[in-house]
Amino acid sequence: MRFTRLPRWALITCVALLVGARPHAQPVPAVREAQDADFARSVKEWTTAPEFLSPLVDQLPVVRGIPTPKDVLGYHIGAPKRLTKTDAALAYYRALEKASPRIRVTTIGTTDEGRDVTVVYIASEATLRNLAAHTANLGRLADPRGLSEAEASRLIAVTPPIYHLMAGLHSGETGPPEMLMELAYRLVASDTPLIRQIRDRIIVSFTPASDPDGRDRYIDWYRQHMADITEEKDRITGPPYWGKYIFHDNNRDINYSQVTMRAHLDWYLATHPPVMHDLHESVPFLYTFSGQAPQNPNLDPIIYGELPTFANFEMMQLTKYGMPGVWTHGFVDMWSPGYLAFMSSNHNGLVRMYETFGNGGATTMKRRVAPPEGAGQTSREWYRPLPPYKEVLWSMRNNTNYMQTAVLSALQYAASFPDVLVENFYRKSRNSIEAGKKDAPHAYVVPAGQKDLTRVDLLVSLLQRQGIEVTRATDDVTLSDGTYPAGSYLIKRDQPYGRLVKTLLEKQSYPDPALRTYDDTGWTMGLMLQVEVKPTADKAVLDVSVTPVTDLTRTGRLAGATSPATWVIAHHGSNDMVRLRLALGADADVRAARAAFTVGDVTYAAGSFLVPATAGTTLSDAVARLGLEATGLAAAPEVATVPVDLPRLAMFTTWGRTQEVGWVRHAFDTFGIPYELVYKERVRQGSLRTAFDVILIPSQATTGKSLVYDVDRKAGPLAYRKDPAFPTLGTYGETDDVTGGMGLEGVLELQKFVNEGGVLITLGASSYMPAEFGLQREVTAARPTGAFYAPGPIVQAEILRPEHPIFFGYATTTVPVRYANGPLFQVPLEDVAEQVLMRFTGGEEGVLSGLMRGATETRRRPAIVDTPVGKGRVVAFATNPCYRWQNHGEFGMLFNAAVLFWNDRPVDRPAPPPAAEAATVR
Ligand SMILES: [Zn+2]
Repeated sequence: MRFTRLPRWALITCVALLVGARPHAQPVPAVREAQDADFARSVKEWTTAPEFLSPLVDQLPVVRGIPTPKDVLGYHIGAPKRLTKTDAALAYYRALEKASPRIRVTTIGTTDEGRDVTVVYIASEATLRNLAAHTANLGRLADPRGLSEAEASRLIAVTPPIYHLMAGLHSGETGPPEMLMELAYRLVASDTPLIRQIRDRIIVSFTPASDPDGRDRYIDWYRQHMADITEEKDRITGPPYWGKYIFHDNNRDINYSQVTMRAHLDWYLATHPPVMHDLHESVPFLYTFSGQAPQNPNLDPIIYGELPTFANFEMMQLTKYGMPGVWTHGFVDMWSPGYLAFMSSNHNGLVRMYETFGNGGATTMKRRVAPPEGAGQTSREWYRPLPPYKEVLWSMRNNTNYMQTAVLSALQYAASFPDVLVENFYRKSRNSIEAGKKDAPHAYVVPAGQKDLTRVDLLVSLLQRQGIEVTRATDDVTLSDGTYPAGSYLIKRDQPYGRLVKTLLEKQSYPDPALRTYDDTGWTMGLMLQVEVKPTADKAVLDVSVTPVTDLTRTGRLAGATSPATWVIAHHGSNDMVRLRLALGADADVRAARAAFTVGDVTYAAGSFLVPATAGTTLSDAVARLGLEATGLAAAPEVATVPVDLPRLAMFTTWGRTQEVGWVRHAFDTFGIPYELVYKERVRQGSLRTAFDVILIPSQATTGKSLVYDVDRKAGPLAYRKDPAFPTLGTYGETDDVTGGMGLEGVLELQKFVNEGGVLITLGASSYMPAEFGLQREVTAARPTGAFYAPGPIVQAEILRPEHPIFFGYATTTVPVRYANGPLFQVPLEDVAEQVLMRFTGGEEGVLSGLMRGATETRRRPAIVDTPVGKGRVVAFATNPCYRWQNHGEFGMLFNAAVLFWNDRPVDRPAPPPAAEAATVR
């Protein structure tokens, strides 16, 4: 079935009817476009079946003076085995910019590795000339406080929406950055009615590569190892790294911790595109996101009308062109706000997303789409009326054709209703402010007087980063549901991003436990940071007198004796205690109190630092800079202490799963904690104890076996080495072969390391390994039943040995932790009292935010087990205390275990628990 095409001249003569009376409309050309015959021939050849092509993309006009992609790159988009690195793509966009006033290229930031992050704008010359004014108008509509309805209507009438496309967030999804170059050319050069309508009525903007570092590394890897693999069964793993740290999770960076993700957010908040559309690659042939349940109920209901409207329009258009396999439902839901493009819906815009089928490169390949035993995503459904084939020969050009045709359809829709899109954006922004006035909670209060202000400051700064206004109460605040001292932070909800305030700070109540979701179900910031945050239902809070918080610089305090014998630095749980320790220098004689102690009328918590007076300005400077409290004491206090000596720290990563390790590397780098990143090669080499005191294995893999054997050896050898031909490879580590894992010989070396006095620390899923491979011989690492389902909830944990240095800085014995789906440990009864440091309380009542189905399975299960082995120890966390730059409240346990108190345990063995209690502790 093919769409019957009108002659091109007929389309052109229709143009005057289609282009409305928007102020930017341009005269209709009288001439028919010349076409690039080589393009048409090539595309036909590279498209693997006629139905995978559409009339929107099977031709390319030739316009004198405007370079096609081939003119600059040397090949048409979609050519087999051709992928374009970011500098070449940027060169193309710059060449277009030089040739045409319809495109503008801007740099919005720099990546970890120094590449430019760019945004490209395309519209008619007249529209682009006024880009700044249009952006200013969108900014005014984004914050409509003080804007009359009449003025808003006027702005809506004259402001074209910006429709923003993002490509290459996931580097293994290689098609979108290619497609955008051809789309750019079409939008700039073509004069078909459709293209003119788009150009004249809206502004199209792109992020050509959302993760430029990863894009270039993936292409080098593809060129070295993948380009010639033509059989699906021979496909291999991708490169060990995309960007510097976090791989695929760049789409889960809810706090915008990564420098490149921050560049996107800053640009967004300055530009306010009403639509942000992220182009991904996975399922066949094209899935267009329609916002299925579970849905975030805080978002404006208008969004849930916009999403399926766009998706159904695209499905209709592509199906009309005869393209099979376009569908709108049954894949990604609308629950987690942490996806990158969600910045749009979080800020009253519209998030959109595609998954187009891809081969992980530009090599044409026969692909089995359906699983051998069933239909998978190839079944006919109400949302998939013309399903994808079960088996298909697929090419990069197919991918380009589908995605470009769908994007052109989306732009067609946007250009048909530009004022509706802008009006929706305005209405959602206005509604968000009104919702804060109408619906409780009307504000969240971060009470003054919390002991650790560094985490309070962090919470405030993370909110501000997202454009949320935070204020400080000028006087004491008395509300019907609480009283708070002057200086408390108030985050009022009658602001443009008031809905986002609620989304980030409330407890997540999952709407239907029967529904599965694509990512986390809980992210409540106060719980994650262990900062007290109180909602208030008292509307009077909106009238409380406040000043805006513009400067979060906090200077630490030095007090007490002028020429002290010793300094004491109170430990209130600040993660910056580790920064302070590092600032004092490895050789400094820093000690920590084993227990709380009192000087005068001040009580210092266990873990407070005692620093000799000789530390002088190094100490005072660090304390001031980090916002800590130091007091000079005339005499050393009477309290038992432990030396805060620093370890030689190794962090282990597999080659196959560097992502969770990347989050820990990012945290350690940010806090300035030195470590050596080691791979299987170093572990197998042995003599680990002579080189290291602590080996940290962040969560990675899913079983002990997969941690030990990693990438299947049959794909090898696969080198990841520095090579002038592939300049981005061999970064962050080198090997002749990424496959095979550390193997049993690696496990033996780890066992020797521990026996000889080393400390092995495992996090999350990596904690299966010590139990499964006998390093913790008496500990069992079990798995939950099939009915258990816990997509990232926040749960309650109970600290059983508060005197253990791992818990220095924790003032309470119950703490919220993110559930990491680590092992369900069982520890022999006689060892429980000594080895189980923390456990999950479990059960429904232990779920603090998000969903845990089958929560009784976690009841009283150990969360941290500290097992003496030989002369050393294995400390296994079932939690992941360093998760996506989110759970800062748990970071302290990791920093204590791995850095500050790596060789410190309580002096006394605890008494065994009473028999009745012990029987229920596993
Ligand atoms: Zn993706």
